[in-house]
Amino acid sequence: MKKINVVIYGATGSIGKSTLSIISKNLDKINIEGITCNKNILKLLKIAKSYNVKKIGFNEKYIYKLNKFNLNKFEVFSDDSSFHSIVSKKTDVIIFATSGLSSLDLLLKILKSGKIVGIANKECIITLGKKFINLSKKYKTKIIPLDSEHNSIYHLLRQNLGKYKSITITATGGPFLNYTKKKLSYVTPQQATKHPVWKMGSKISIDSATMMNKALEIIEAKYLFNLKNDEINAIIHPQAIIHALVNYENGISTALLNKPDMRIPLSSLFFEFNKYSNVYRGIELTNYSNFEFIPIDKNKFPAVELGYQVMKIGGLAPHIFNYLNEILVNLFIKRKIKFLDIVKLNELNIDKFFGKNSNISDPKLSDIKNINYWIDNNLYLGN
Ligand code: NDP
Ligand code: MG
Repeated sequence: MKKINVVIYGATGSIGKSTLSIISKNLDKINIEGITCNKNILKLLKIAKSYNVKKIGFNEKYIYKLNKFNLNKFEVFSDDSSFHSIVSKKTDVIIFATSGLSSLDLLLKILKSGKIVGIANKECIITLGKKFINLSKKYKTKIIPLDSEHNSIYHLLRQNLGKYKSITITATGGPFLNYTKKKLSYVTPQQATKHPVWKMGSKISIDSATMMNKALEIIEAKYLFNLKNDEINAIIHPQAIIHALVNYENGISTALLNKPDMRIPLSSLFFEFNKYSNVYRGIELTNYSNFEFIPIDKNKFPAVELGYQVMKIGGLAPHIFNYLNEILVNLFIKRKIKFLDIVKLNELNIDKFFGKNSNISDPKLSDIKNINYWIDNNLYLGN
């Protein structure tokens, strides 16, 4: 049987780790063609050796110049602008699991590959907006969403039950679900990166704590599934067993139940839906007599409401919201701003932007780059 050839962008991260965990149990079926990271070269080399990977890429050029790593055994791609060449004729599946917006140019090239692309990175989807699906359709690139909620929706919609009324995604509520607003104002980056359910990279963990992650996921769902703003909503479900519901006109909602384990959505890249490997333990419903579904407290977690405002404005607004969040999360990690400022300053900076600039309904990549430059130079951080 021909092996599935896979390229993993962001192999040293949390999604990369879950992907490798699947591959390690299916070495007879899956071959890793190439892997990349930003700068974690030691981890990348370890993966390359363990999985006999020939092509490696890293984004920080200085690594190549250090000359102390034994790189001549590999085909080396020494910055992000060359990463698209890792994909070859024989590549079957590409996993796009870098974090943040830095790999936007790479994604644009990958969307033209005509391959199967598993996408974990929500930030790039939001910034590309409608272009994301339009480009993938134009170049016959098959998109499989890997974010757990969106992967659930993807499978639910494949049931082809006809027109639906709306889609609901769930949120765990993050580490601060039961904190008071006052207590939230003192939380540290260390506390914010400790997620109660998922073990993820630091940016997405902080996004989960502010519930920015859910706001971003609502926008992600809008673009992935071509939804109107009032067709997508979110609720809190701390047990994280139901990740999404599709709600039909006749009052029926469909959902999938699965444990919060990223290997489940990731498996759909390699195996048919009901052919996942049996390493995943099933759901014992009697262990879940405490299933909860709670509305999101807009006062404590204003991010979701701001996300809707941003969708309503449209044009550049979703990108600006997304880009500002990345900047503000970094400032919070460096302890330059407080936890509650992440969302508050986002809103103030959006207002500032639209006070001084007009919107662009269908922004080009060059517009996005100009806007980033403007934001970098006009960022308001309060007094
Ligand atoms: P991590 O921070 O754990 O990993 C990020 C990966 O991207 C690392 O391999 C990192 O390399 C690489 N990377 C970062 N910046 C660059 C760059 N400029 N150029 C090239 N590579 C880069 O993140 P996660 O795995 O948690 O998340 C990845 C994406 O998936 C995010 O967009 C997140 O929102 C999404 N996602 C993640 C989930 C999860 O469970 N983790 C769930 C749902 C979505 P290095 O190690 O060298 O820094
Ligand atoms: Mg998610």
